[in-house]
Amino acid sequence: KEARRKHIRLHMEGTLTARDKVGVQDFVLLDAYTSESAFVDNLRKRFSENLIYTYIGTLLVSVNPYQELGIYTVSQMELYQGVNFFELPPHVYAIADNAYRMMCSELNNHFIFISGESGAGKTEASKKILQYFAVTCPMTESLQIARDRLLLSNPVLEAFGNAKTLRNDNSSRFGKYMDIQFDFQGVPVGGHIISYLIEKSRVVYQNHGERNFHIFYQLLAGGDAERLSSLGLEQDPQLYKYLSQGHCAKESSINDKNDWKTVSNAFSVIDFTRADLENLFGIIASVLHLGNICFTEDKQGGATVPDTHEIKWIAKLLGVCPSVLLEALTHRKIEAKTEEVICPLTVELSVYSRDAMAKAVYGRTFTWLVSKINSSLVNKDITQKTVIGLLDIYGFEVFDKNGFEQFCINYCNEKLQQLLIERTLKAEQAEYEVEGIEDEECIRPGPATDLSFLEKLEEKVGRHAHFQTRKLAGAKGRKRIGWLEFRLLHYAGEVTYCTKVLCRSKNSILRECFLVAELENRRRQPTVGTQFKNSLSSLLEILISKEPSYIRCIKPNESKEPSKFDDFLIRHQIKYLGLMEHLRVRRAGFAYRRKYEHFLQRYKSLCPDTWPHWHGPPGEGVKCLIKYIGYKPEEYKLGKTKIFIRFPRTLFATEDAFEFS
Ligand code: ADP
Ligand code: MG
Repeated sequence: KEARRKHIRLHMEGTLTARDKVGVQDFVLLDAYTSESAFVDNLRKRFSENLIYTYIGTLLVSVNPYQELGIYTVSQMELYQGVNFFELPPHVYAIADNAYRMMCSELNNHFIFISGESGAGKTEASKKILQYFAVTCPMTESLQIARDRLLLSNPVLEAFGNAKTLRNDNSSRFGKYMDIQFDFQGVPVGGHIISYLIEKSRVVYQNHGERNFHIFYQLLAGGDAERLSSLGLEQDPQLYKYLSQGHCAKESSINDKNDWKTVSNAFSVIDFTRADLENLFGIIASVLHLGNICFTEDKQGGATVPDTHEIKWIAKLLGVCPSVLLEALTHRKIEAKTEEVICPLTVELSVYSRDAMAKAVYGRTFTWLVSKINSSLVNKDITQKTVIGLLDIYGFEVFDKNGFEQFCINYCNEKLQQLLIERTLKAEQAEYEVEGIEDEECIRPGPATDLSFLEKLEEKVGRHAHFQTRKLAGAKGRKRIGWLEFRLLHYAGEVTYCTKVLCRSKNSILRECFLVAELENRRRQPTVGTQFKNSLSSLLEILISKEPSYIRCIKPNESKEPSKFDDFLIRHQIKYLGLMEHLRVRRAGFAYRRKYEHFLQRYKSLCPDTWPHWHGPPGEGVKCLIKYIGYKPEEYKLGKTKIFIRFPRTLFATEDAFEFS
């Protein structure tokens, strides 16, 4: 007995070479936990072994592998089911399973917040989670349709809301929050989706190397001849101005024809009627026709449309009067005291109003699509429901040209980041309190070395004409949101010109989207800024009432290549994802904690008194065990239900002893 104990002790003091090769699977176990270089090294080591997942406590860091790794099989899913968090290598399934188990046992609501920059793997992660639930959750025959609809809502929303960008061939151009609803037995029974800020500007303009939303190309590539001719469309996307500005209408990595089949099938499962689809594709086609309208200047300097081919098609597809449409595109109505004056628009303003109309039509149709999907996901029969929410929201974006959309995205990210740090901090303190641990070290996030959003904004985009930051304090039109002051210099009411036409449309989708009430000023559309502010605050409310899990996605390189680890790019992301800050919070007190029964279960073989069975309370067993293997008092603390281990090396040593035994 004594010899064995000595042997274990010896081993505990030895080096930990075996573990070094693949790094640590939890960053809290890094000795140099304040060093960003150590952090990057660990990530690199693991990435080179195709280990793309690493924890920071319960937060999952994921590096996009840009290759299929074979780690998402059904047998992998089964492996992670009901297993204690730290017993298997880190995985997105572990996060999903953990949230699910907690929801089932505590009957509370959860959300999984997935963040990271464009192309980092957020959408893929959220799809993996959804698939995990679809495969592993108990299921009844009658609820299979609900499950299929949940799964198939993805291809539909991606067709209308995703596009090829320079950073990602399938970039989500909207933020998405999805609730998966479960009944009291943990069966997925329905869902609800909220979308945020669809990037409407893409409908009318794409940067070089980028495309419009997938659906346009899918329709042209996959729609049969009869459908296309009924929509007045030709197969070649190059013929459409809205599809060809990025000069990459045909993209080798994307199979629009196949995707069309997937989307068509999804539509049929999600309860879209033939009439819905006809209306929907009528709208999609009319957007393409809108883009091809050309204006020329008449003698008085007003805009005219010499070729009314497109106008006729739009009028037909949307069920509006062609002359009214033409007038709306080339004139504006000015309301004076007692009379209305109709005045002609210049060519430039006509182009603007044409684009505004296309954006408004597409944006609102997208909103309609989400609500249509929602009505098919609703499950009215089941009353007792808990939810797991998935938040896939696009990360920080700084482009050469930054519009209001980027501003909103970045503001939203900073706000959510703040929420994360606060909640982690609170959760740490709460845990020590619950466990009766007095922590002499003050836990608080370290000095924020990272630039705040506003500073970044000033540094990167301060010169942009669309907004100016607080240097303008006192200027007219200034708005205040939270701690950030900014002045919006440019806002154009996008729908002033076309609402009148569209609310009289015979296309039933458009009639739902453009209400007559709005026209009569009874129900004004809030401005983009107001909409954004409202949706952000309701998002925060949704999140605050749920138990959070976090996934932070990292993009390893800009060229979408496997096995390429760009240190500079990764360091940058570690910074703005706040990972070092998060690690500091997790490490400020105790690096590691485990429930007594789990700790005992794993290591009981190290001590003859706890092996093979310990019959008393698990806490007493743990006491006995760590006394035997020689933990020093400063190395640990015992809480009510958990052991807290201060230094990673203590746990490593125990792990090594365990492997050795
Ligand atoms: P984001 O939503 O963060 O912008 P995506 O989830 O769309 O990024 O990922 C971009 C691309 O990276 C995907 O289309 C896919 O090719 C690849 N990818 C992302 N995550 C994984 C993964 N876990 N395994 C394999 N490939 C991935
Ligand atoms: Mg995405």
